[in-house]
Amino acid sequence: MSIFGNNILGNSIFGNKATDPAPESPATGPTVQKSDAEWREELTPEEYHVLRQSGTERPFTGEYWDTHTAGVYQCRACGTELFTSNEKFDSHCGWPSFWAPLAEGTVRYIHDRTLGMDRVEVRCATCDSHLGHVFDGEGYGTPTDQRYCINSVSLKLVPQEKPQVSGAGTEA
Ligand SMILES: [Zn+2]
Repeated sequence: MSIFGNNILGNSIFGNKATDPAPESPATGPTVQKSDAEWREELTPEEYHVLRQSGTERPFTGEYWDTHTAGVYQCRACGTELFTSNEKFDSHCGWPSFWAPLAEGTVRYIHDRTLGMDRVEVRCATCDSHLGHVFDGEGYGTPTDQRYCINSVSLKLVPQEKPQVSGAGTEA
């Protein structure tokens, strides 16, 4: 009666599952390196000024300072995922503000004493582009009490995909 079903399931499908490709090892360090001319060609003048010359966009003028869309913020220069909407909060400072990066190691920090201030610069760890600065202990009441003050022009928001489907197998 049910010989077919039992044999097929038991022998073929569950028994042999060794064709998944191995996951790629995560890259660390500034792995994207381009010449100044290449960056100038790829980026708009404003993007180039902020990302490659550590510029700062004017407050309340950027694309994302007041954005609440769920999603992931990528580096505008290299596409690495740097921040998510889960850590974004309303600082009302005029720039997108996050209380933590997406993960340890996605950004790197440089002590910045320019303009007579003592600040910590935040850069993309993958392509070494300037993102903004991080400030400590301002009392925003976030889990880390930090504010990653990031230029909108350094980021690219990729909205989260809906609806969320769970448990279904992938289609061939
Ligand atoms: Zn980058």
